[in-house]
Amino acid sequence: MLDSPEAAFAVEAVREASFLARRIQREMVAGAITKDDKSPVTVADFAVQALVARRLAELLPGSVLIGEEHAAALRLEEGVTALDQVTSFVRTAVPDATPEEVCGLIDRGSGEPPKRFWTLDPIDGTKGFLRREQYAVALALVSDGQVELGVLGCPELTIHATRLTSKPPAEIGDSRGSLVAALRDGGTWYRPLEGSDSQWRRLSVSQRAVSASARILRSVEKAHTNTDEIGQLVSALKITAAPVAMDSQAKYAVLAAGEGDVLLRLISPSRPDYREKIWDQAAGSLVVSEAGGRITDLDGRPLDFSRGRTLATNRGIVATNGHLHEGFLVALRELGA
Ligand code: AMP
Ligand code: MG
Repeated sequence: MLDSPEAAFAVEAVREASFLARRIQREMVAGAITKDDKSPVTVADFAVQALVARRLAELLPGSVLIGEEHAAALRLEEGVTALDQVTSFVRTAVPDATPEEVCGLIDRGSGEPPKRFWTLDPIDGTKGFLRREQYAVALALVSDGQVELGVLGCPELTIHATRLTSKPPAEIGDSRGSLVAALRDGGTWYRPLEGSDSQWRRLSVSQRAVSASARILRSVEKAHTNTDEIGQLVSALKITAAPVAMDSQAKYAVLAAGEGDVLLRLISPSRPDYREKIWDQAAGSLVVSEAGGRITDLDGRPLDFSRGRTLATNRGIVATNGHLHEGFLVALRELGA
């Protein structure tokens, strides 16, 4: 299933990139000391994008990558220290990489999407990365506006052991992380990120069909959603469980594994015109739909990945196990969301 050249590249690149991200976190995020220092995530974002761009050029030459980052800041005089750090981390995987090459690799991701392209969020959930909670490396192949393949590397997520908390419980502190891969018409598959268990297991969404017992997943960052409206929805539908806050597309993996039922990205009052970035949704959306779930925008429209670097014609996101979808769309409409 996952042995086409594209799938093999994506799984291996995301796996390697997840280890690089974890290494940078381990070496650079030093507890409370760096609380307001964004440099670890900056270094990780650039290093992961450079590494994935390099592997793509090696394995599938001629492919286009659309990534979140571009190297302009690293080329400035003030960027010298960061570029040195990025290059030294990239060299742990690509020993011959030079600073110049690293900048060039990062900039491969900065264009406008053609008909067929790869899209990468090198570190999705940057706040989670800095808090040592959930984050994801997200890579997807998009063709004619549809996601063909999506892979998520979630170094802090242990599927089946996760208790729907954003932080791994202490007793699973030796979390092995998760790799989740979805193929159009081929299902969503999971395997541990590390360890000797390399067997893929198929994921499927929950069967829960009663709104009141839905387990809702939402962003930790209030600026990325509308928590007041989520509260109103919880009251209107008499939902008993408190929504679970989690950073990054790890939420989509949790939904696909049946460990949550509904994922909401409502419109933040501080950013009413915000449009979702394609790399924040491409891999996660296929992970959900191939596990049997459904994903649309707040108006029930399918996500359209043919509109450039954002989902320009969509508003917010509702992803569910399918059974709960219509009910939540109706309830959101009644709230005026
Ligand atoms: P999450 O971890 O689910 O909160 O999602 C993280 C992603 O939210 C980041 O990669 C950002 O690109 C994206 N983001 C930034 N601002 C907003 C916003 N106003 N509304 C929705 N998403 C946003
Ligand atoms: Mg992101």
